[in-house]
Amino acid sequence: MSTPIFPNYIDGAWVEGPTFENRNPADTSEVVGLHGKGSAEDIQRAADAAQSALPTWSAMSGPARGALLYKIADILDRKFEQISADMTREEGKTLPEAKGEVRRSINIFRYFAGEGSRMAGVMAPSERDRVHMFALRKPVGVVGLITPWNFPSAIPAWKLAPALICGNTVVMKPASAAPLSAWRIIEACHEAGVPKGVVNFVGGSGGTLGAAIVNAKPIKAISFTGSCEIGNWIHTEASKRHLRIQLEMGGKNPTIVLADADFGSAVENCVNATFFSTGQKCTATSRVIVEEGIYDKFVAAVVERTKKLKVGNGMQAGIDIGPCVDEGQMDTVLRYIEIGRKEAGEPLTGGHRLTGGDYDKGYFVEPTVFANVTEDMVIAREEIFGPVMAILKARDFQHAMQLANGSDFGLSASLQTTNLSRMFEYIYGIEAGLVTVNLPSAGVEYQLPFGGSKDSSFGPKEQGPAALEFYSDHKTVYIKY
Ligand code: NAD
Ligand code: MN
Repeated sequence: MSTPIFPNYIDGAWVEGPTFENRNPADTSEVVGLHGKGSAEDIQRAADAAQSALPTWSAMSGPARGALLYKIADILDRKFEQISADMTREEGKTLPEAKGEVRRSINIFRYFAGEGSRMAGVMAPSERDRVHMFALRKPVGVVGLITPWNFPSAIPAWKLAPALICGNTVVMKPASAAPLSAWRIIEACHEAGVPKGVVNFVGGSGGTLGAAIVNAKPIKAISFTGSCEIGNWIHTEASKRHLRIQLEMGGKNPTIVLADADFGSAVENCVNATFFSTGQKCTATSRVIVEEGIYDKFVAAVVERTKKLKVGNGMQAGIDIGPCVDEGQMDTVLRYIEIGRKEAGEPLTGGHRLTGGDYDKGYFVEPTVFANVTEDMVIAREEIFGPVMAILKARDFQHAMQLANGSDFGLSASLQTTNLSRMFEYIYGIEAGLVTVNLPSAGVEYQLPFGGSKDSSFGPKEQGPAALEFYSDHKTVYIKY
C-alpha cells in the first residue's frame, strides 16, 4: 500500500506540492503519511483567502455558523475510531487516551456550536434619558492558529471552534510531529461545507511559516500553544504589528501531598499526572512535594506503583505509556535524566531508554523517579516534558506552598489533602491558572477557562466562555429614541 498524502488546504482546495514524513514514534519503520510542506507564499495565499472569505462568513448568523460546527462534530464522530487510531500512530499516546482526546474535540465543536445561538454581548441602563445602549460582539478578523503535537486534535479544536463561531476566518499551522489529527478536523470542515477560504491549513517548518504568519498583513490575531521559547519570540514580533495574541506555554507543575491525604489516591494521582501520555501534557505533574511525616512511605509507594506501569506501543491493549513523540524529545528527556543523576543521585526506578525487541523500533523511555530533589536543582526548575518525576520534601504545608510557588511557571497545580482549611489556603495562595484538589494536575474540561499564570501564559484564557474574549471584540452602541 502506498503512503497516503495529506495535502495543505488553501481557499477551499487541496494543494499539491512538496511533502514531509509523519512517522510513528512507537514504530519508526511506519510512515503514517506524507504531509504538505508549505512555504511562506502558501501562508500569504492562505491569509489572503481568509481575508476574502471574511465578509460573507462574519455576516452569516451565529446559529447558521453553529449548524456547520454541529456538522463538523458529527463527521468527526462518524470517523471516531479511525481518527483515534491515527492519533496513536502519529503521536504515540495510548489508544484509550487518543479516544478520550477525540471525544473531547467532538464535544468542543458541539459546545461552541451552541455558542452561536448565545454570543452574549452586554446591555446596561444609560444615565441619560431615552438612550438605549448595548455592546455586541464582532469578530477580530483573520486569525492565525499555531498548535503543538502533544494534544494534536484537542488544541486545534479548542482554537478553531471558537474562532469560527465568532465569525473569524483562519490560517492554521499544525505541529510537524503530529499533523494528521488536525488535518482530520480540516477535512471535516471541508466535508461539512464550510465556505472556501474560511479555514486554511498549512503544514511545514515552524521556523519558515512562523515568521510568515506573524508578518502576513491580513492576520489580526495569533493564538499559539507550545514552548516558551517560540511563544516569547511570537510575543516580541507580533507586538510590532499590535496583533492580538494568546500564548499557552510551558509548565513545571507541582502536586503537593499532605500527611492527611488519602494515601492510596494520592499515589495514584501523582503517578497518573506524571507519567500518562508519557509526561507530555502541559498540565502534567513534574514536581511532587511531600510532607515530611509521610515522605519515606510515599516515595516507596510511588516507586512500587511506577514499576508496574507497562510501556509499549499504545495500539496494544494493556499499555499504560507510549513512546516520546520523536527522537529529539527522547534525547531531551535522557539528557535531563543525566542531569538528575548528577544532582540527586541514581533514580529509584527507571532512568534509561528501553531497548530490545519491539522497543528498538521506537523512542521509549522508562518512567523515572528521582527522590531527594531540592528546589535549586535543574530537574526541579526546568520543564522536561517526559516521564520524569522529581520528589521534594516539605517540612509542613507552608513550606510546601513556598516550594510549589517557587517557579517562574504557573500552569497547573494539585493538592492532595482531606483538610478543608488547607485546601482553601491553597486555592487562594497557589500561583497557577488551573488548580485541582484530590485529582491529578492534568485532566481539564472544555466548559471552563483554560490557561496558566506567570511565565506559562499570556493573554486571555482559552476554552469555555473565556474563549470569546480572545476571538471577538465588543462594538458599543448608543441610541437616542
Ligand atoms: P514548539 O514551541 O516547538 O512548537 C509549537 C508550534 O510552534 C509548532 O507548530 C511549531 O512548528 C511552531 N513553531 C516553531 N517555530 C516557530 C516560529 N519561529 N514561529 C511560529 N511558530 C513556530 O512546542 P512543541 O514542542 O510542539 O510542544 C511542546 C511545548 O508545548 C511544551 O513546552 C508544552 O509545555 C507546551 N504546551 C503548552 C500547553 C498549554 O496549554 N500551556 C499545551 C500543550 C503544550
Ligand atoms: Mn509523528
